[in-house]
Amino acid sequence: MKRNAAQGLAYEEDLLFEQSRPGRRGAELPMLDVPAADVASLLGDLARDDIPALPELSEVDVVRHFTRLSTWNAAVDLGLYPLGSCTMKYNPKLNERVARLPGFAQAHPMAPEEESQGLLELCFELERSLAEISGMDRVTLQPAAGAQGELAGIMMIRAYHEKRGDAKRRKVLVPDSAHGTNPASAALNGYDVVAVPSGDDGILHPEAVAALMNDEIAALMITNPNTLGLFEEHISAICDVVHDGGGLVYGDGANLNALLGVSRPGDMGIDVMHFNLHKTFSTPHGGGGPGAGPVGVKHALAPFLPTPTVSRSDAGFAWNHDRPDSIGRLHGNHGNVGMMVRAYTYILSLGSDGLRQCTDMAVLNANYLLARLRGEFHVPIDKPVMHECVLSDRALADTGVTTMDVAKRLIDHGYHPPTIYFPLIVQGAMMIEPTESESLESLDRFADTLLAIADEARTDPDTVRTAPHHTRHRRLDETRAARKPILRWQPEASEG
Ligand SMILES: *Cc1c(COP(=O)(O)O)cnc(C)c1O
Repeated sequence: MKRNAAQGLAYEEDLLFEQSRPGRRGAELPMLDVPAADVASLLGDLARDDIPALPELSEVDVVRHFTRLSTWNAAVDLGLYPLGSCTMKYNPKLNERVARLPGFAQAHPMAPEEESQGLLELCFELERSLAEISGMDRVTLQPAAGAQGELAGIMMIRAYHEKRGDAKRRKVLVPDSAHGTNPASAALNGYDVVAVPSGDDGILHPEAVAALMNDEIAALMITNPNTLGLFEEHISAICDVVHDGGGLVYGDGANLNALLGVSRPGDMGIDVMHFNLHKTFSTPHGGGGPGAGPVGVKHALAPFLPTPTVSRSDAGFAWNHDRPDSIGRLHGNHGNVGMMVRAYTYILSLGSDGLRQCTDMAVLNANYLLARLRGEFHVPIDKPVMHECVLSDRALADTGVTTMDVAKRLIDHGYHPPTIYFPLIVQGAMMIEPTESESLESLDRFADTLLAIADEARTDPDTVRTAPHHTRHRRLDETRAARKPILRWQPEASEG
């Protein structure tokens, strides 16, 4: 018997995976109440000769297996999850209850419109809510993630320039603090990426954009607040520079949780942006689960929105497929609709005052942590932040303890590490986003833990450098884990 110290749970090593025993059953099929079909004549060559080698387990075995696995994960339901930029906020259980209503949960994506009026209305209203929150004119709910939203947005920008016969614009400006998906989305659309340097104060300056702006630039992609957690104070002037040069501005809205009810990207001059429902609007994420990255546009880009869009007439709600300039479809059906139900529930249950309060608390929490950690950890650009703060390991340099070591040591204390070594412009970066969900006590516990680790780095650096000590696996080979990940269980005696 070993103990998983982080969660205090016991498990038996030999009970991990190989639990199958011949003849065990976890489910009973109902008695056949129709004539048995002749499988061979139905399936022909496709009929199996033998039974597949599936695990044979009782229900309790399966329940315990998956429950045990779930406790080996960090989860926002277990504790603060300060993964900067990813916004691991708490997902209210009300969202889950509403998403499980049979009318939503069991809606068939191909059901006729007249039988899907409730779902269509929800999509229509969510679109309008997101447009109102962001100051955009239209929204598509199709993209399944922020990155796919970026792809859609840049496709629409390309379609816009092409429609105007402006074929010369082959480049996209991206600040050096951008999330990696930004240059990737531009490159996937065939654009050359031109990096714009941030100023010493961590934000973008209109002069830096103007120096690179010309008639080959299709767009600027900008994240606001940026990945240093700083508000882009010159955003309107920057948008003017790009617009005067004939370009469009893409707003990476992943961090919209810092602006809710306070300011709107559409009012700042952004032409197209994505939302991460799974960040700002509290739908579950992590582990590659379904996300949703709706995209909002100004009127000029609306003709290019993915097809279909949802529309309302006297006859009710309908999918509109008649969109000749559309960039096409991005998702097999209507996107990850369950996430839309959750996000809409969140918006309605908080209301406009509640959304504003979310942002106020997210900003207060990040600044509180910054205030408690400043001094023991180096703050590369020390000014008030929005929803997250970026620290570095510079103050620990003489101990030999690095950001990676601090992150690993946090795991021993039951915390998921913050985002580390990003943004790239800060050496040894630790990007901490507490979100608005955390109480003062929870923030204090986390700050106390980080301060204790900084202290330990000075008194007992080896313990920090060799962390984690209490996990099932110690330090992984990060390169192999990234390049050759083993993502699923494989049977010991695989028959290929
Ligand atoms: C998370 C994030 C993205 C990408 O969103 P996904 O849903 O993970 O694809 C893009 N930009 C920023 C700033 C982000 O934080």
